[in-house]
Amino acid sequence: MQKQDLINYWKDNYIITDKRALEAFRRVPRENFVLPQYKDQSYEDIALPTLQNQTISQPTTVLIMTQALEAKPGQKILEVGAGSGYQAAILSEIVKEKGIIYTTEILKELYDFAKNNLIKYKNIKLLHTDGSKGLSKFAPFDRIIVTAAAKKIPDILLEQLKTQGILLIPVGESFYVQQMLKIKKTKEKNIIENLGDFVFVPLRQG
Ligand code: SAH
Repeated sequence: MQKQDLINYWKDNYIITDKRALEAFRRVPRENFVLPQYKDQSYEDIALPTLQNQTISQPTTVLIMTQALEAKPGQKILEVGAGSGYQAAILSEIVKEKGIIYTTEILKELYDFAKNNLIKYKNIKLLHTDGSKGLSKFAPFDRIIVTAAAKKIPDILLEQLKTQGILLIPVGESFYVQQMLKIKKTKEKNIIENLGDFVFVPLRQG
């Protein structure tokens, strides 16, 4: 598949309709975030292995999450699980120069990989740290996106979210499948939407 085939597939099936998300996908070269031996599969709609048994999510998953996050120019976003850095790069194109993406990676080898892939992205701060407790130093965030599977919604991440902010996180007890939850923080009761089944590597929680 070519990049444009994926865009057509999403548009024709009303999977991704958000213009900002589609434009960000157009601008970021996924081939720069996959390992050299998988470059020719960059635009297949599949997750690909990266280092240390981790994965770069399949394009449709990255775009569904991007669209659901409803990010806007100028926002401050936290990502937990930088991996290759691809999702952060997509979000960086949406928040633009006035916005900022903090992304955390717990594994040193992946951190180094992402660091190298993200050199050009001035509005991304990559940190080699456990992101499961958020990043209190830079809170509160407009949006928080977790790209590894948690057993339940971490309260500490909700605390670091602004009112009207959105937390997106795959949650589930099972190793094989999780539910993508979109949580909107309000002054009263938080609004939780289930976006369906997804599969992620586990969030490491210390
Ligand atoms: N967003 C990535 C894919 C994420 S794969 C991309 O666009 O390529 C999930 C990543 O989360 C892995 O690299 C894993 O090492 C990392 N991870 C797992 N637990 C973590 C934690 N507690 N803090 C930060 N990163 C974590």
